[in-house]
Amino acid sequence: MNGNTQRINIGRDAFDVEAIRADFPALRQTVHGRALVFLDNAASAQKPFRVIDTVRQYYTDDYANVHRGLHYLSERASDAFEAARGKVRGFINAREDCEIVFVRGTTEAINLVAASFGQSHLKAGDEILITEMEHHSNIVPWQLLGERLGTVLKVAPVNDAGELLMDEFERLLGPRTRLVAVTHVSNALGTINPIERIIALAHAHGARVLIDGAQSVPHTAVDVQALDCDFYAFSGHKLYGPTGIGVLYGKRELLEAMPPYQGGGEMIREVSFTRTTYAELPHKFEAGTPHIVGAIGLGAAIDYLQEIGLEAIARHEDELLAYATARLQDIPGLRMVGTAARKAGIASFLLDGVHTHDVGTILDRHGVAVRAGHHCAMPLMTRFGVSGTTRASFALYNTRAEIDTLAGAIRHAQELFGR
Ligand code: PLP
Repeated sequence: MNGNTQRINIGRDAFDVEAIRADFPALRQTVHGRALVFLDNAASAQKPFRVIDTVRQYYTDDYANVHRGLHYLSERASDAFEAARGKVRGFINAREDCEIVFVRGTTEAINLVAASFGQSHLKAGDEILITEMEHHSNIVPWQLLGERLGTVLKVAPVNDAGELLMDEFERLLGPRTRLVAVTHVSNALGTINPIERIIALAHAHGARVLIDGAQSVPHTAVDVQALDCDFYAFSGHKLYGPTGIGVLYGKRELLEAMPPYQGGGEMIREVSFTRTTYAELPHKFEAGTPHIVGAIGLGAAIDYLQEIGLEAIARHEDELLAYATARLQDIPGLRMVGTAARKAGIASFLLDGVHTHDVGTILDRHGVAVRAGHHCAMPLMTRFGVSGTTRASFALYNTRAEIDTLAGAIRHAQELFGR
């Protein structure tokens, strides 16, 4: 470990946001002469020293390819890579390490299920049920599958608050529904879906369930065994880990019954020109050299979050969301988009007479990083009759003072546009 940069504030008794902020070097900078206020966490979160130092250390001292060499460094890298898998397993309480497949991110995880589960378990006329609030990565793979196989995509609507209409959802579950693919938390609205109920209903209809956990794992503890979901997908980079690494959890018996997603090294047992047999789980789904250091960095991010405690993080972010909602609702001419009763730390809004992209640009001049646009949820934007929103999304290191800065910058945007 590089002792110079390590500033881990572990063993905290209470949630100490200033100590946490000191763990994230990117937060120290100024942007356009103002202190950076980073509220684009739903897109990607900043990295703590724990992750940065772990990645640096592995590239510096421990780097080698995994599962191939008999030499010392390769064994050490393989051990660290598999230890990271174990950390992910513990983090989401999967039963076995082999149920954790390393992928590039949520997008690849869903595409893996669409390609592999789709090919082996679905046929023309089978229905896949999603919701109106899905990210494009939980829409387009099913459309591609439909083009190949003739499966049918069904979409459960949301109400004006951005909550899933459960009656409609239930009505759309039918004898042909084979898979339900639903986001745990909406990236555009912050809505937390009642996935326990969704999973139970889907199972009662004999359908399998994939949960898109991209926006939930950074904010709340997830227990895939208690949920009883069949697949759970998430990305490392939103969880304070590296980019290019993500996770597909799948129940063992399902993963075993699914064909490989990609062919190549690592995923085989034996190859000849006439016949190839495949490796055991999870390697069957991990063709080629994996993102070794990405997985190890993700393990470091998980260690870091677990030391702080997911419950404490959720409490802090809930408080921030409540404070931000009150502050923003106080601004005349501002309309919140997404007012569900159960929400995670996302505040999406519109300003009368100011285009979302202009809002984003003016906030940036105040050092406030937000996202403006459709948030890769175009059908949801259509549902709300808008082309996009401005979205502030909160992380464990954000503060009330930063939300005050956001509110002040919004007022300034209104002034500039004569509102
Ligand atoms: N699903 C949701 C709900 C998301 O918010 C995102 C990213 O914003 C994704 C899926 C896609 O994640 P990635 O780009 O890391 O694959």
